[in-house]
Formats: sequence, C-alpha cells, structure tokens
Amino acid sequence: MHAKSTHRSLLVVGSVALDDIDGPFGLHRDLLGGSASFIARAAAYFTRDVAVVGVVGDDFPKQHLDDLSAVGVDVTGVEHAPGETFHWVGRYSDDLSSRETLDTRLGVFASFQPKVAPRHREASLVFLGNIDPVLQLDVLEQTHGPLLVAADTMNFWIGGKRAELLRTLARVNTLLVNDEEARQLAEEHNLRKAAARILTMGPSSVVIKRGDAGALLFTGEGVFGVPALPLSDVRDPTGAGDSFAGGFMGYLAYAGDLAPDTIRTAMITGSVMASFAVEKFSVDGLRGLTTAAIQERFDAFSELTRFGSVRL
Ligand code: AMP
Repeated sequence: MHAKSTHRSLLVVGSVALDDIDGPFGLHRDLLGGSASFIARAAAYFTRDVAVVGVVGDDFPKQHLDDLSAVGVDVTGVEHAPGETFHWVGRYSDDLSSRETLDTRLGVFASFQPKVAPRHREASLVFLGNIDPVLQLDVLEQTHGPLLVAADTMNFWIGGKRAELLRTLARVNTLLVNDEEARQLAEEHNLRKAAARILTMGPSSVVIKRGDAGALLFTGEGVFGVPALPLSDVRDPTGAGDSFAGGFMGYLAYAGDLAPDTIRTAMITGSVMASFAVEKFSVDGLRGLTTAAIQERFDAFSELTRFGSVRL
C-alpha cells in the first residue's frame, strides 16, 4: 500500500512510553506504549513518510526504536535524554470496558523542548498526539503551513491544562478524542451538542471514538458513523485510539487529498487499525500485518455496514 505518487508526509509528535497494564489478563510491566508509538506504527502501513518527534529516557530499550525504523518510520526526531522514560500505569475493569490511570510519571517529558528538524518542518500532515498541549503547540509552531493539523488529547490535560489546550485547539483542523474526553472538553453530556461546541473552539471536524461502539465524525455538514468490528479476542484496548489516529492519518497521507469521501475511508482505516491493536498487548497487534489481512478487515467493515437502499 505504498505506491501512490500523490502521497503526503506525516509528522507525529506524541508520547513514547513504557506502560504497566493491569487487567483480566494479568499485570504486564514495561510494555512499549505512548501515543506516538501506536500512531506511527499504524500509519506506516499506508505511507513510507512518517516521522516522529518525541523523547525517551535512558531506561528505554533501543530495540523499540529499531523496530519502528525497520517499518520505515523516521525516528531521528526522538531525542534521548537523561532520566526516566514517560511511564503510564493503567488498570482495566474485568470486562475491559473501562480503565483507570493509576500513575502518570512524566519523566523526561517534564523538561522536553521539542525540536523539529528542518527536513520535517514541511510535513503536509501533522498529528499532535496525546501529550502536554504546550508541547503540541511548540511543535506546530515549528512547522510550515501543513495542509492538515489533527490532534488528540486526554482527561489528564483537559483537566490539568485547559487554557493551554484551548490555545492549541485554536490551531487544530481535526480533533480526535474519545466520548468522555469530548464531554469533559465541551462540558456537555450530549455528544452531538458536545461536538457542536468543540467545533467552535477551532477544529472544523471532530472525530469521537467510542471504543466498541465505533466512531463518529462531526463536521459543519453533519455526522458520519462507523461501527467497531465485533472481535472474538480482545486483550488490551491500550492504544486503540492512537491506532485509529494512525490509520486515519496514514490513509489521508496515502490518498493525497482531503475530499469528504477520502475522510470517510480514513475513518474506516482508523477502525481497521484499532481492531488489530486491541487483539494483543502493546503494539504487538500492529506488527507484521499483511496487505491481505488489512484488506480482509476493510471487507469485513464493508459487509458489516452494507444494506440496500430504502424506498418508502
Ligand atoms: P489510548 O489507549 O489510545 O488512549 O492510548 C494509551 C497510551 O497513551 C498509552 O500507551 C500511554 O502510554 C499513553 N498515555 C497515557 N497517559 C498519557 C498522557 N497523560 N500523556 C501522553 N500519553 C499518555
């Protein structure tokens, strides 16, 4: 899926993390996590031109960056700093339907000053992965006129750095958040109203991810919805949202345009990549996927939502 001449480059800033995940499948420590890790891996199936800006500490296994390079991701923008890598500790409920954050240790992210290398400043697509909104804006200010700026965020920043987040959002075209985050950001429970409020904060489109209830795209024109594929094996939902974002952005880079139908297909691509991510821990569900396996999931989505036209 790499052979299109119109393809665009994608710059991703986000966390590169070590995660401890507890849940019905036991406690797993020091897994590779972080928004950028999932986004870049998922996007790399659709474009060869993905670069990551981030930071890791001296406890970070080099192998993880080698693995990302091996799938074509440019990791030269991942800085190595003395100290602990960003570490997130989360626990899932027995049915995996909810999770709580037990600990967030910013480590090297606390003093991170992102530097975007000259060759990455012209990226046509920029994704501001979940990270301190001040750092998101800092990266954005170093880029030159991207065609699309998309961003994610989470409760940690909506609650802790709201004013900074609003400043970043004013510069974002597409916001991708989950339903709880949308409600918290908009201070509105109804999702349609929450999306309408977010559309007044800067973005012209909002993607609301709803876990196994699928995802919704809101724009000034209306709403488009995608279900989630019912899966028989779900082990670790961590990174589902980021894998969605990676598939979404990767497809936009691959397609080379931002037409409404392209964005709809990007919503499906995001859902396809999220469906792979949740089947295994860490980024393992995104490793070694064949074009045929990805195509098969697209077809499964198409079958899931196919119905004849209704004439009453
Ligand atoms: P998701 O399941 O898509 O929401 O993403 C989970 C990933 O986000 C995990 O791998 C964490 O390392 C990372 N993460 C959790 N909290 C934060 C945070 N406050 N800032 C940046 N990344 C985070």
